[in-house]
Amino acid sequence: GGVPVISEIPTKQKIVFLTFDDGAEKDPKFVTMMRELKIPFTMFLTDAAIRADYGYFKPLRQFGDGVQNHTLTHPNLRTLGASAQKQEICGQQTKLKAEYGNTPRLLRPPYGNWNEDTRAAAASCGLEAIVLWRESMQITNMQYQRGDKKLHPGDIILAHFRGPSELKGTTMTEMTANLLRHIQEQGFTVARLEDYL
Ligand SMILES: [Zn+2]
Repeated sequence: GGVPVISEIPTKQKIVFLTFDDGAEKDPKFVTMMRELKIPFTMFLTDAAIRADYGYFKPLRQFGDGVQNHTLTHPNLRTLGASAQKQEICGQQTKLKAEYGNTPRLLRPPYGNWNEDTRAAAASCGLEAIVLWRESMQITNMQYQRGDKKLHPGDIILAHFRGPSELKGTTMTEMTANLLRHIQEQGFTVARLEDYL
């Protein structure tokens, strides 16, 4: 009785889904950029990364279905027992509900690491799915899991709230512009993940 684990959505449409993780970088220009572009994305937030400024993420909630769960402290869940995993996941459900008003539906396990205890904990914390990814955005390049190095319909893409100190001087908006260019070049558009689950 655990939640399903997904890395893509079955579809024939040329759409992909954007996800941004953690929450360390809080660049106001990113909020402006996404407002102007009106591109949907899903945020998976870790309390340890966002607690200095919960308010930054409030205007970004509208781009997805509220905020989603990326644990309290970003541990490798595989190294934790069942009850410790439950604390990390349910604890973040409670925090996010208190700060942002919505109860998260989706869990992204830190580093993409999970086991059967994670699936069971997620279910008992009220989550619907564990969401992994098919591509991850670096600074200018996309890292593909598949050998053909191409986007496929329904792929979920991982990016992070990262700033110049982690991106070798590149800002989060520049990284996001690079990411959107990779998507557009391959003829894909971005859809809202929560609408397809
Ligand atoms: Zn993370």
